[in-house]
Amino acid sequence: MYINLLERRLPMPLKTPAEYIESIKALKRTVYLFGQKIDNTVDNPIIKPSLNAVAMTYALAQKEEYRDIMTATSHITGNVINRFTHIHQSIDDLVKKSKMGRLLGAKTGCCFQRCVGMDALNALSMTTYAIDQKYGTQYYQRFLKYLQYVQDNDLVCDGAMTDPKGDRSLPPHKQEDPDLYLHVVKETKDGIIVRGAKAHQTGALNSHEVIVMPTIAMRPEDRDWAVSFAVPADAEGIIYIYGRQSCDTRKLEKYSIDQGNALFGGHEALIVFDDVFVPWDRVFMYKEYDFAGHLVERFASYHRQSYACKVGVGDVLIGATQTIAEYNGIDKASHVKDKIIEMIHLNETLYCGCIACATEGKREEPGTYMVNTLLANVHKQNITRFPYEIARLAQDIAGGALVTLPSADDLNHPEAGKWIKKYFKAKSDIPTEHRIRILRLIENITMGTAAVGYLTESMHGAGSPQAQRIMIARESNVKEKQKTAQRLAQVISSDE
Ligand code: SF4
Ligand code: FE
Repeated sequence: MYINLLERRLPMPLKTPAEYIESIKALKRTVYLFGQKIDNTVDNPIIKPSLNAVAMTYALAQKEEYRDIMTATSHITGNVINRFTHIHQSIDDLVKKSKMGRLLGAKTGCCFQRCVGMDALNALSMTTYAIDQKYGTQYYQRFLKYLQYVQDNDLVCDGAMTDPKGDRSLPPHKQEDPDLYLHVVKETKDGIIVRGAKAHQTGALNSHEVIVMPTIAMRPEDRDWAVSFAVPADAEGIIYIYGRQSCDTRKLEKYSIDQGNALFGGHEALIVFDDVFVPWDRVFMYKEYDFAGHLVERFASYHRQSYACKVGVGDVLIGATQTIAEYNGIDKASHVKDKIIEMIHLNETLYCGCIACATEGKREEPGTYMVNTLLANVHKQNITRFPYEIARLAQDIAGGALVTLPSADDLNHPEAGKWIKKYFKAKSDIPTEHRIRILRLIENITMGTAAVGYLTESMHGAGSPQAQRIMIARESNVKEKQKTAQRLAQVISSDE
């Protein structure tokens, strides 16, 4: 056992959390936040919690107890790599991906941002191969070389799909401003120049690389918009504009109690591509418009599975709700017990979905394992609903103090503080500050910075609810269900 572990550790390109943070610090980027240019994102108090959440994906990979879930063996080098850079080689890999999402959601209580890159890599492994089969191109070999670079350096990739989209009723080539979908503006012998933007980019500032994909299926007239490539996050011409979150400026306050979860958070940003050069060896789709939909569907289904993360955040919220019930002395009330059971039932139903789409996955060319797309879409559809109900029940049990608590400044004030400690006390053996901390955590997940991830991102991330319903309609074979009914009713014969 000891020798095996040693052997396994030898070729390990795993970064430590400190190495990861240093590598992000070394990036030279143009970043805007609150109307100012930010040189150092790593030590910025607004951004830092989100960096910590990504760093957790490195920290857990270093721990023996999580290694089976957090690491995998590269199918190209045989090295032990972080699972976030792995191409799924089996059903077991897909199941471990779902378990990894729940684990990290529970460890951070927020969006840990690294899934988009993993999902982009896996989708590209299939689409580059499929394009080569049809057109005799060399995208797959290019992709494998890039993948090895990502694996060997244990990089975070931002999977950038969502274009600004302009007038939603018009395809890319009919937009008044052609840049509202990212597109190719020039081709040279060394590569291409691209212009446009990607919106709502999760973890953009904590990523080493940006992998760009088209956002919709395309027609021949849209061929200049059918482009996929990877660029370093600090490539010339890239501009980041940081997205606001509800309660974000609490991170600038003197005391951290009011943040609820002071250690971790997620973030999104607008990424502008102002004529960015991409060398040919980083281009994975170039005007093959008929494969834009292929890539979008695979990425979307993988990313809908990735919403296992919300099950982990649900674990935190259930734990916080049970705790506040005990602190308030209401945990024995039958309706409170029943509401907690309801929260668990909803959360575990979500878990069923992300495990089911993994176990029902199958091998696709060139050997990548793909989730069951119907079940992945059903799972994500549930994710657009159940966290809202879980959050409602948490707020029901937590009580009105959730939104009427005084600030941490008042708690620490020599005069006001004593009244807060006296009148916000519930059970006599529980310090008032503990009660406040748990209430602030529930506030954070259900209406503060983490609610971006637990609620609105659950609604719109990996595609809005209607996108899943389109896929559910397409994948569910209603005709066959009709036949089974008609056979039993003897409307048609048993062998039809
Ligand atoms: Fe990953 Fe979930 Fe964040 Fe999406 S919302 S990047 S699936 S942690
Ligand atoms: Fe997301």
